[in-house]
Amino acid sequence: MDFELLKELISIPDGLDRSIKKVKPTREVRALVKIRDNSTCQICGLKHSYGNPGFGQPGHLAIHHKTPNGSGELDNLVTICKFCHNAVHALLYSSGKWRYVPMR
Ligand SMILES: [Zn+2]
Ligand SMILES: [Zn+2]
Repeated sequence: MDFELLKELISIPDGLDRSIKKVKPTREVRALVKIRDNSTCQICGLKHSYGNPGFGQPGHLAIHHKTPNGSGELDNLVTICKFCHNAVHALLYSSGKWRYVPMR
């Protein structure tokens, strides 16, 4: 369990412009993130599979933007599982830093 990364992911600046959309990573960048992170959730360390096995099913890895409205480049992206992803966004939401993004 990497609490340092969790702390980093929820310590985004206050007052980000919510009207600015995040830039989606290209297919190539997504592939590089997957290789760099060894298809493993970088917070809880569990190895899951990418893709969407279906809502509510285990095994979904998400690519999270460290700065939610930031770039789609490698250094702004991190692999986390859907459970950690949901937790990060719930914490961002409850601290008023970012709108809630449903589990995915
Ligand atoms: Zn996880
Ligand atoms: Zn996210």
